[in-house]
Amino acid sequence: MQRKWCPNLNHRRSNAPVRYCPNCGEVVSANIIIKKCSEEEHAESRRRRNAYCTDCGAQLIK
Ligand SMILES: [Zn+2]
Ligand SMILES: [Zn+2]
Repeated sequence: MQRKWCPNLNHRRSNAPVRYCPNCGEVVSANIIIKKCSEEEHAESRRRRNAYCTDCGAQLIK
């Protein structure tokens, strides 16, 4: 089940610091616990041009 290629570096790290890829929303590090984010954190994440939240995987930019 190879999806379209994602250029985000987290996919190629053995111990990525985030649970979800900010570019495609896929889980890159399943051992990191899911965080409950606030709207402010998602707004901040959106400002960093993340398409997906790295903490909870929510889609930020549609
Ligand atoms: Zn990705
Ligand atoms: Zn989030």
